[in-house]
Amino acid sequence: MLEGNKKDAQRIAIAMIGGLIIGLILYFTGKGEWAGYIKPVGTVFIRLLKMVIVPLVFSSIFMAMFNLGTPEALGSMGRKAVGYYFVTTCVAVFFGIIFVNLFSPGVGADLGTAGLDKLSATMASKVSEQKGLYETILGVLIDAVPSNPVKAMAESTVLQIIVFSMLFGVVALYHPKSSEPVINVIASLEKMMLSLTHGIMKFAPVGIFVLMIDVMAKTGFTAIVSLSKYMATVIVGLLCHSLFLLFVAVSRHKKSPAFILKGIGSALLTAFSTSSSAATLPITMACVEEELGVRKDTAKFVLPLGATINMDGTALYESVAAIFIAQAYNIDLSVGQQIVIFMTASLAAIGAAAIPGAGLITMSIVLGAVGLPLEGIGLILAVDRVLDMFRTTVNVFGDAVGTIFVDSFMKDEQNVS
Ligand code: ASP
Repeated sequence: MLEGNKKDAQRIAIAMIGGLIIGLILYFTGKGEWAGYIKPVGTVFIRLLKMVIVPLVFSSIFMAMFNLGTPEALGSMGRKAVGYYFVTTCVAVFFGIIFVNLFSPGVGADLGTAGLDKLSATMASKVSEQKGLYETILGVLIDAVPSNPVKAMAESTVLQIIVFSMLFGVVALYHPKSSEPVINVIASLEKMMLSLTHGIMKFAPVGIFVLMIDVMAKTGFTAIVSLSKYMATVIVGLLCHSLFLLFVAVSRHKKSPAFILKGIGSALLTAFSTSSSAATLPITMACVEEELGVRKDTAKFVLPLGATINMDGTALYESVAAIFIAQAYNIDLSVGQQIVIFMTASLAAIGAAAIPGAGLITMSIVLGAVGLPLEGIGLILAVDRVLDMFRTTVNVFGDAVGTIFVDSFMKDEQNVS
């Protein structure tokens, strides 16, 4: 299995680079629309990954709850996971604020193309419909509780599925005898979903090859050039944050950086090409459990939760983008306003769905909180898809490191007691 996964990662990397080159050739030869003919292959790949999410999250969280053995162990793991999410998200936003103030990419930026009219009609309405900060936090908490678990599953509402599966698992924990038939069915469902994930991973190189061609062939390079300073700021920030995460992983896992990066490679490359932490989740789970040796029950609990609420890359990007917009409009932000950006960018990342482009929509929370013009989103729209690839990779990396972190403390705790 280990050797197979390493080969998968190599094939995915080759496919990604191949897709990137072909996409660029299509773009520069003016044949960008050709990518549309093969795009359905990429779409099918993403749909296959999404197909596994609901049964995998449900069965994994249920089994993790059941195997934890006591509600206290669940509480202890939950506290560690939330503590990790909180600290790393703050560090990410901090990096963002530091770099955007240092590089000032927005000073003198061309506002000629700004405007909400640049957004597609649906996106523009989502952006302006975005609720305020308080309503958003309250909304996330209330919406996490499903009124109908079947509906939550039918609509792939991951946070609601997590809450239901946790409660369901806790009931099984208290009544193991009467729950036995159900536990057996769910345990076998979980194994089957992991096998299905491995099957889908065989298809990953083809899917990723096509997705890369599509993105590269369609992205406007003129926009990339004119927004290069802004993009560089986000990417440098993301790189620094990744180094910080790697440091955390190495210090807790006691393995080399190369071991960790190789182990999680397939998931990072999939995140990069799909721009969706949710679609990548089945692959992240397989990598973390089989390659990095994190205990299954930690991964099963920490990863689905992390994919939904822990988005370091998105938080960093939101802070850079908001301050970039202020600089471009020549609006001076006070220290107090930057602190508000610090808090709202973290919350906007928690509220963002794990799908492509979600961070751009929750940007309006950050802009609204400090009174920046929503139209500013039009300024950064052209390069959002490319930056989404980078931030999603960091989101997934942050989730993977979270499992290492929580697992190492859980091991220490269990050794002591
Ligand atoms: N695409 C990101 C993710 O799935 C969310 C975002 O748009 O920032 O993690």
